[in-house]
Amino acid sequence: MKIAVVSHGDETIVVADCGAYWINVTRADLAYSGGDAPLSSVSDLVESGLLTAAYIEELKVFTLAKDEFKVSAPEAFLQPLYPGKIVAVGRNYKAHVEEFDNKMPTEPTLFCKRPDACVGPDEAIEVQDWYGRVDHEGELAVVIGKRAKDIDAAKVQDYIAGYTLLNDVTARELQKADIAQGNPWFRAKNLDTFCPIGPVVVLAEDLGWPLEVDIAVEVNGETRQSSNTRKFIFSLGEQLAAITRFMTLEPGDVVATGTPEGVSPLHDGDVVSVMCPEIGVLSNPVKQA
Ligand code: MG
Repeated sequence: MKIAVVSHGDETIVVADCGAYWINVTRADLAYSGGDAPLSSVSDLVESGLLTAAYIEELKVFTLAKDEFKVSAPEAFLQPLYPGKIVAVGRNYKAHVEEFDNKMPTEPTLFCKRPDACVGPDEAIEVQDWYGRVDHEGELAVVIGKRAKDIDAAKVQDYIAGYTLLNDVTARELQKADIAQGNPWFRAKNLDTFCPIGPVVVLAEDLGWPLEVDIAVEVNGETRQSSNTRKFIFSLGEQLAAITRFMTLEPGDVVATGTPEGVSPLHDGDVVSVMCPEIGVLSNPVKQA
């Protein structure tokens, strides 16, 4: 089931795709739970432990035959969630490691993207000349559902609430300059707007296990990246076990799982789309700031 955030009149609401119709999760949750704090993003749901197929099913049953909780299929989506932190895995597809002549990793390569660099679907990725080459990196992103520390790789499914898409936009020349100096990649990965996320969150239960989904990127309709998560060097279990050895992941945190080969430069006026058949299309225009 797809969970999303949309504009509805002058409100921002959470909605769920129930097949034949969508429900207003924000309104249904208030009526069902008797609470007084309206949900305004998927983060509110996941941080309350409610981003589960069971809870959405309860809301679906509760709203059955009650038209006031139904909304029309959205035409546009807003940023679905506001992660507490974003941990990214670099170099997690063999062909991507090879395209930059990097050494094959023996453990997951980790870095952070800052949550306030996130933008939603259709919002601009802003570039400036001094950034040099700016690349797209289309990635599957995991939404953590349960506090995770020192987890067993074999039990990783217990900690995943859902999946979305993320574009790990990277200022490639700044990154190379920093690596050459022996410095971290922080600035190259964290320029404002360099973390598009969305368009929706799909419940983990819906994607099957092991997780094998196609991830592609198009620029102006032309395919640049096309792979499948079965080609991960490190499985989701190995990624989350490595991360939670030294940091606690909280509900609503996001793990970006690495990008396949085919990264390429973006330019002012381009439209870049990260795609996964089960999740949807995350499109963002590129604009000179
Ligand atoms: Mg990446």
